[in-house]
Amino acid sequence: MNDHKGVWVFSENYELMLELLAGGRPLAASLKTELAAILMGSQLNDRATELVRHGADKVYSMDNPDLKDCHTERCLSLLAKLAIEHKPEIILIGSTKSGKELASRLAARLETGCTPDCVQLDINGQGTLTTKRVVYSGNAVVTATYLKKPQIAAVLPRAFEKPEPTERKGHVVTVDVKIEKSAVEIVEINEIRAAEVKIEEAKIVICGGRGIDKKEDFQPLIELANLLGGQVGNTRPLAEDRKWFTEWIGLSGKKIRPALYMGCGISGMIQHVAGMRDSQVVVAINKDPEAAIFEVADYVVVGNLYEIVPAIAEQLRKQLS
Ligand SMILES: Cc1cc2nc3c(=O)[nH]c(=O)nc-3n(C[C@H](O)[C@H](O)[C@H](O)COP(=O)(O)OP(=O)(O)OC[C@H]3O[C@@H](n4cnc5c(N)ncnc54)[C@H](O)[C@@H]3O)c2cc1C
Repeated sequence: MNDHKGVWVFSENYELMLELLAGGRPLAASLKTELAAILMGSQLNDRATELVRHGADKVYSMDNPDLKDCHTERCLSLLAKLAIEHKPEIILIGSTKSGKELASRLAARLETGCTPDCVQLDINGQGTLTTKRVVYSGNAVVTATYLKKPQIAAVLPRAFEKPEPTERKGHVVTVDVKIEKSAVEIVEINEIRAAEVKIEEAKIVICGGRGIDKKEDFQPLIELANLLGGQVGNTRPLAEDRKWFTEWIGLSGKKIRPALYMGCGISGMIQHVAGMRDSQVVVAINKDPEAAIFEVADYVVVGNLYEIVPAIAEQLRKQLS
């Protein structure tokens, strides 16, 4: 168990990998070990140097045309092989949809433990990783630790702030990539047209709920979001029941931490609040003065969203012009 050394970070999402470097740095410092980033892809160019500038002491770089679309299956076999060879002490993986799958399957291959959706990472008195994750709609926090190494944690986006780049030196190791024949064949990929900015990364989110009667009535929210350089979000019933969207914000959806969240016609059920409670400033518009969302709001507007949202946009337009 003691021959494991180093903290590794990996995500197929490059921005999330930078955040993981921020999460991994204090762990590496506490364990007096190096922080390494695992880079996989095709035509990576300056990415390895960039990762060093953002905090990696070492970058294992796997640059291969076959890694252009780095599917979980392929990442898994390469990462497992590298981990068996180098025995890292901790592996942090970005908790995206495929990252979660990768983390748990990697743990199974390496016969070790894995904690999902971590928001906090520490090293305890015994030098073991402890992780925290939020459960029961934000009403409890689970602290977990590990019995085996490598200790694998899937870390949620926005758990750590991306570090500022600095001029520093690191070591780039070019890994010889041998793509093994996969047990799974990908027959077809149908990409869902995603928003230009991922909702988890948006600084401003204008969120609509069941108080909006028709999909077209989202237009004033979109206009307001555009004016503010933000993104539009929604509650689960608008996706699941009304089929207007494919994603939603909340416990079972996306977790966001924008600088500004504006909830329009949203009651504030705990399952939704679990996904937005870490927003820096919360504005809530609801015609019901007793709406639960007001309990988590910094600014409360009691009234009809159909009047208030366009009025805010109008004022903004005036100010901007
Ligand atoms: C296991 C489970 C997981 C779930 N996960 C999620 C999740 O991740 N995310 C999520 O969002 N939900 C989730 N839900 C659903 C959740 O419980 C709520 O049903 C949902 O969040 C309610 O959405 P809403 O606020 O849009 O609708 P409602 O609760 O119907 O609220 C609509 C609000 O709009 C207000 N309103 C109406 N008209 C106007 C108007 N003209 N102007 C201003 N205000 C108006 C009303 O006063 C009301 O407060 C989950 C449920 C379950 C069981």
